Amino acid sequence: MHNVVIIGSGCAGNTAAVYTARAGLKPLVIKGHDAGGQLSLTTEVENFPGFPEGINGPDLVENIRKQAERFGAVYHDGQVVEADLSMRPFRVKVEHHWFETRTLIVASGAQARWLDLPSEQRLIGHGVSSCATCDGFFYRDKEIMVVGGGDSAMEEANFLTRFGRRVALVHRSDAFRASKIMLDRARKNPKIEFLTHTAIEEVYDIHQNLVTSVKLKNVTTGETWMRDVDGLFVAIGHVPNTKVFKGQLDLDPDGYIVSHGGARTNIPGVFHAGDVQDRTYRQAITAAGAGCMAAIEAERMLEAEGH
Ligand code: NAP
Repeated sequence: MHNVVIIGSGCAGNTAAVYTARAGLKPLVIKGHDAGGQLSLTTEVENFPGFPEGINGPDLVENIRKQAERFGAVYHDGQVVEADLSMRPFRVKVEHHWFETRTLIVASGAQARWLDLPSEQRLIGHGVSSCATCDGFFYRDKEIMVVGGGDSAMEEANFLTRFGRRVALVHRSDAFRASKIMLDRARKNPKIEFLTHTAIEEVYDIHQNLVTSVKLKNVTTGETWMRDVDGLFVAIGHVPNTKVFKGQLDLDPDGYIVSHGGARTNIPGVFHAGDVQDRTYRQAITAAGAGCMAAIEAERMLEAEGH
């Protein structure tokens, strides 16, 4: 029986682990499908307080994990495939093993959203990617396209200009969700070409099992045209990882956990932290803060119960 099980090893989960471990609760952290969360897929993080020169995303999240382990947090490989929150102790299943816990911190984050074109899905890993850091290297001197109008798209487009001959940034309107600084940086980059009011209709070529071109559409005029592309990076936001909690935790229509104040969910003893609940801020620092809040709430509950 565990005092605290933390689902997720991104910024939120790892910070919850630091706090609960320092409180002597020996948290068990289930690393999840993408250990390290979204920070492990980023490059330079320039806005995490305390690093005047910036810090590499994977290094930041790895440092927090080491910090948690120093105080006794235990990390377990694997993904939660089932959860029973109907009574305490709560039970979560990782592969074939059930873990029991008095409190649960859900910090399972969110994963990349796709365009959901059948051709796009078929070509993931064959020219279609959601991770510039992972795959940019393969596109040296190639034609690259990024789709999206948020900070992720700007960051990926800028990063990919290190490799590609040219980067086309495709966005379905001319209103950008990206922050001004990120948008300005992309606009000033001579290797980035902006294609606004444009949608991707089809990705070719599934017969060659390789991205060769895309069919684009001007969403205001309806005009369509082809464009040669070697790599397509999809950066259109994220979907929260809450499937196993459906019907148990209160979720909003997009699947984000609904907060019941602080880090509380609708089930006493189950707490939320990070992007799995936060559709507004979604920053490394806010995720870390949310992990801290969840840990303090779990700790106080256990203390009140005499554990
Ligand atoms: P986001 O801000 O939600 O932006 C998603 C973008 O994708 C929007 O431009 C949206 O267009 C577009 N989009 C969504 N679904 C689409 C579809 N089916 N087809 C075409 N386009 C679609 O997501 P994000 O860029 O991943 O950023 C998420 C959060 O992380 C933000 O808070 C951001 O500030 C943060 N972030 C920060 C940094 C940094 O500071 N270094 C880096 C990355 C992300 P519409 O606007 O038309 O809906």
